[in-house]
Amino acid sequence: MNSTSAFDGSALSGLVVLALHAHPDDEAIFTGLTLRRLADAGARVVLVLATRGELGSSRLPLAPGETVARRRVAELERSAALLGVQRLVLLGGRDSGLPGWLSGSHPDALAGADTDALGRRVADLADAESAGTLIFDDDGGIYGHPDHRAAHRIGAVAARLTGAASYCATVDHEHLGTPAAGEHLVHQAAAAAAVGFGRPTGEIGLAVTGSGDQLAHKRAAITAHASQIDPALLPVRDFAATYGTEWYRRHSGLGALELLAPSVHRTEAALVGA
Ligand SMILES: [Zn+2]
Repeated sequence: MNSTSAFDGSALSGLVVLALHAHPDDEAIFTGLTLRRLADAGARVVLVLATRGELGSSRLPLAPGETVARRRVAELERSAALLGVQRLVLLGGRDSGLPGWLSGSHPDALAGADTDALGRRVADLADAESAGTLIFDDDGGIYGHPDHRAAHRIGAVAARLTGAASYCATVDHEHLGTPAAGEHLVHQAAAAAAVGFGRPTGEIGLAVTGSGDQLAHKRAAITAHASQIDPALLPVRDFAATYGTEWYRRHSGLGALELLAPSVHRTEAALVGA
């Protein structure tokens, strides 16, 4: 037993949460625990992916005729199922690659896309689903990735048009800077792009944790992205120390994430509307 069990079952039934991410694997790494908790508590979880992550090279050999995009969508479908996602929608943007890559100026690259138009599409989806809560990246793109920053702009447009409550996913830079937190995938991503990541603790509004079972689902969802992530990079014994908390800033209103209490931690910064 733990403090989350009282919220399992149907406590959130009738609520719909729409989570928007830039690339397959972001949903599991940054919000997997939250999505699984919402689903376990009866909320309907809709996952929207802006790109298929087609510029991430595969660390595993592809089947004859298989493309990176196809592999990544198959991995995404598996991850979404593990996280309890009930509907998966692909927006069809093109991966922009890492900061500085020429691919970022491709005419279809998400980084240069018409985020107002994409935001309207997400808003239409949210309205059709009666989603009262939206989740998307923070304005810093968690670690500055141009596609993550674009996902923020798209999500912010959708939040404005729908009036839904919204939360921005980030990471706690200070927490992940402690030796006890271990090596998170965001460390590697930020180092590869030579950029910073996350927010200081005082700028975090909500810190969501979950049960051991929910954490196991998050781990399985991350490793479902086997073309991108070497499972050896994920700690087994200390997984909870590195991946057992997910962090958000409140963007507009108060939505379903507030109801994940009591294991949602509210900081003073959050209460004054960070
Ligand atoms: Zn990403």
